[in-house]
Amino acid sequence: MGNIQLSGVNKTFGNFDVIRDVDLSIDEREFVVFVGPSGSGKSTLLRLVAGLESVTSGSILIDGRDVTAVRPSRRGLAMVFQSYALYPHMSVRNNIAFGLKMAKEPKARIEEKVNAAARTLQLESYLDRKPRALSGGQRQRVAIGRAIVRDPTAFLFDEPLSNLDAALRVQMRLEIARLRQTLDATMVYVTHDQVEAMTLADKIVVLRDGAVEQIGSPLALYHHPVNRFVAGFIGSPTMNFLEARVTAVEETGVRVDVGNDGCSLMVPVAGGDVTNGTGVTLGVRPEHLCTGATNGTPALVGEVQVVERLGGVTYLYVRLADGNTVTVEAGGNDATRVGESVRVGLDGGTCHLFDAHARALPALFRHPIADAPAGTH
Ligand code: ADP
Ligand code: MG
Repeated sequence: MGNIQLSGVNKTFGNFDVIRDVDLSIDEREFVVFVGPSGSGKSTLLRLVAGLESVTSGSILIDGRDVTAVRPSRRGLAMVFQSYALYPHMSVRNNIAFGLKMAKEPKARIEEKVNAAARTLQLESYLDRKPRALSGGQRQRVAIGRAIVRDPTAFLFDEPLSNLDAALRVQMRLEIARLRQTLDATMVYVTHDQVEAMTLADKIVVLRDGAVEQIGSPLALYHHPVNRFVAGFIGSPTMNFLEARVTAVEETGVRVDVGNDGCSLMVPVAGGDVTNGTGVTLGVRPEHLCTGATNGTPALVGEVQVVERLGGVTYLYVRLADGNTVTVEAGGNDATRVGESVRVGLDGGTCHLFDAHARALPALFRHPIADAPAGTH
């Protein structure tokens, strides 16, 4: 149980379209993440699923039942917000039990459920504390505990980790990943953080201005973004974009010239409408660039302007002859210095091409792990 179906969902506030024509199918026990920049409609979409907002048009089905007009409390869902909204004067135990008490569940049953949730969330030794005596991560776990005891068919999370500091966020992210293996429920999770989306999701829904840009597994979005927006949003540091010109459209791909150093590259994508001379945008991720390309291999020439040494990796910011800057990911022990002239090597197989409408030209080959199920990558 926990299948959620959205068909043609629209939401307007006044004459402002906040959600536009969203069609989405969430499978039983799937972990789906809504990701997008601030204001893209993630929270609104989640609140529509929860029933906290009503749709302007379209329908929402949960396990085949049309719940479009059903009250939130009757949808069988539990929501966890960014602000934990715990009752400060109540113990952890009573905070977790509150909803069950209101629903007048038998005392023994409540105790059993609270204890089970506390065990799952490793909160057993904190049950008699008040929220003020807990860390941010522990408070967030109490908020999740309140959701767990309701045995929802789906959990809805709205940026649950964004109030936590960076180290705790990583820890809680792991706890949520573990939790999803313990709980037999569908999870819908909103975040603006693409790393959270990549690490937690079975399926990511990328939103922009209330519309779905792309739906797919994390690695499908990484390897096969359908447009420049998704390409730039997924992956860190962000993908480099360079102007390029088509010089040949062949069966094996599209050949382009990049920069003005005579760099010619064959990218294995379908040409579609593009013809010789068409201007396109070449996209390439920092991790797919390298310095020290030998003469005769496709490369861009530039000068290193900034070197960031993170220990495990080094980021080089290279200014090209045409004035553009590219980010190159090098090894932790890379010895390149500021001011050095470098040849940045490209491999057409790891490049993307975007047309004048910022749409990706479709890859001729699917990346071998782009569609791997969660947990196997
Ligand atoms: P996100 O969660 O992606 O940051 P939201 O869903 O909160 O985005 O908001 C999407 C857009 O809808 C924003 O432009 C926001 O200002 C607008 N919006 C959200 N709620 C309301 C409301 N109750 N009335 C009017 N506009 C709203
Ligand atoms: Mg939001």
